[in-house]
Amino acid sequence: MTIRYAILPADPGAHLFQVTVEIDDPDPQGQCFMLPAWIPGSYMIRDFARHLVRVRALTVGAARVRIAKTDKHTWRCAPVAAGQGLTLAYEVYAYDLSVRAAHLDTTHGFFNGASVFLLPVGREREACRIDIFAPPDRRLRPWRLATGLRPARGTPPGGFGTYLAADYDELIDCPVEMGTFTEHAFTVEGVPHSVAITGRVARLDGERLASDLARVCAAHARLFEPRSRRPPFDRYVFLTLAVDSGYGGLEHRNSTALLCQRDDLPHAGMAAATEAYRRFLGLASHEYFHAWNVKRIKPAAFIPYDLAQENYTPLLWLFEGFTSYYDDLGLRRAGLLTPEQYLGELGSTLTTVLQRSGRRKQSLAESSFDAWIKYYKADENAPNSIVSYYQKGALVAAGLDLTIRAATAGRRSLDDLMRLLWRRFKDAGADYAGLGEDEVAPAIREATGVDVARVLRAWTRDVADPDLPELLRPFGVIAERAPALESAHFALLGCRVAAGPDGRISQVFDASPAQAAGLSAGDQIVAVDGLRASGARLDSVLARHAPGDRVELMAFRRDELLRFDVTLARQAPVKWKLAIDPAAGVRARRLRTGWLGPA
Ligand SMILES: [Zn+2]
Repeated sequence: MTIRYAILPADPGAHLFQVTVEIDDPDPQGQCFMLPAWIPGSYMIRDFARHLVRVRALTVGAARVRIAKTDKHTWRCAPVAAGQGLTLAYEVYAYDLSVRAAHLDTTHGFFNGASVFLLPVGREREACRIDIFAPPDRRLRPWRLATGLRPARGTPPGGFGTYLAADYDELIDCPVEMGTFTEHAFTVEGVPHSVAITGRVARLDGERLASDLARVCAAHARLFEPRSRRPPFDRYVFLTLAVDSGYGGLEHRNSTALLCQRDDLPHAGMAAATEAYRRFLGLASHEYFHAWNVKRIKPAAFIPYDLAQENYTPLLWLFEGFTSYYDDLGLRRAGLLTPEQYLGELGSTLTTVLQRSGRRKQSLAESSFDAWIKYYKADENAPNSIVSYYQKGALVAAGLDLTIRAATAGRRSLDDLMRLLWRRFKDAGADYAGLGEDEVAPAIREATGVDVARVLRAWTRDVADPDLPELLRPFGVIAERAPALESAHFALLGCRVAAGPDGRISQVFDASPAQAAGLSAGDQIVAVDGLRASGARLDSVLARHAPGDRVELMAFRRDELLRFDVTLARQAPVKWKLAIDPAAGVRARRLRTGWLGPA
């Protein structure tokens, strides 16, 4: 039996998709249909059902069937006569320009199945057929498609027509882009890949982009499959939306949806990769690594996903944090970062984690578990109250990798753990039960012979930090402390001020001069010691003061002007710089080369 979906970008001006879902043999007690409350990979309840409009149920003969909601995202149809098919028809308002939901206007269309396709409850395992129609507006005739869905026979690649998914899980794991995007193809061990770019990008160097992505993809495939070097899918597409400002990505089994700034992408004539372009490659690298780590190797709590509510796991530090560690390491392995640039990135992750006191109040396991209500709903107090399972998770991955390499003279590494988890996934087939929290340390021991149980517990269940400066020493890498003086307000007041003419405080750090004086997020500093210091002038005015000075600061809170006496910090927050020790011995050089490759 097959569930038949159809989707039409009916009215781009009104941002409406028209969708139908049709089944045979509906539940004789009354068939229910539900829409996911969240999309895997983005751990927040989003209630996609709020964008469904005019949901109707019809029999095959087009007779109306009574329909009633039973909860916020479930509809129950009245029973229909035996042998009668049932069709639900509805509209989806699609105006969310993110990687998570759906967007339709006259320039393009994009949707994730989780936000547009109702699931006939109880029929999760049935095959799906999806007819994707071209927009009726003649002016949009040049539109094409890009998606990881399999085209049915008769549907040309990239064409509107019929697509297939083995089940609902695959259906909602294959987002679809439609429009007049540019596309650049490459292969990884014969497997076709492409990058589709929506949005105007002046003088895009698509060839460079494709060849750089090919190197990153090959590096990850080589890690998991050192022999065949093949990725675990028949094709892959990077669906990329380039906008004026925005950043994000969402991983899928054989595609990813990326949101970036136009200027992140390479242009013809660009010599060395810009920092923005390296950041884009890091994002692409991250999402591609997820094709193994979270889309296939999964936390036990995600098997199967419960799409109606939060799915709690204490392991996002492994699935997101390790992926964050490998995204930059993959760029290094692909030759797109030098060892020095790689260490620069690792040093800034270390700095960010260590500068925030939230890491002493929340463990990585707690941060993972509470992602739904904390990380994804971060407020101005986040640096003081939560720890990022991405950033500290990446430090834990680095800490484990360095520990394993040092203990085995470079013969084993974190790669061996990833390969073991990957082999277990492949060997288990349909019986795969996912990874439990208690299985991580034993798996590391099995893969590498190194017992990390005690430190792993301290780093993830407790709030200890991996001591990277110490762990890096045997690799001939020196960690230097320096005062973070890049912005005077951060160094002297201990707060963050949002960019722009308003200059409002966005975050006040624990135990900072700003907090001690009573300054709060949302306050707008306008003067320091009687001199105008709003917006961009704040740093230049503050920078004329010495550490420890007492200053009078005027700020608006809402519309009230308030006065604050502030004692400026005596010591700026610390930042970490990682550098290769030129005097390191042969053994250290050999270990480092095993980790980061030759200089
Ligand atoms: Zn991720």
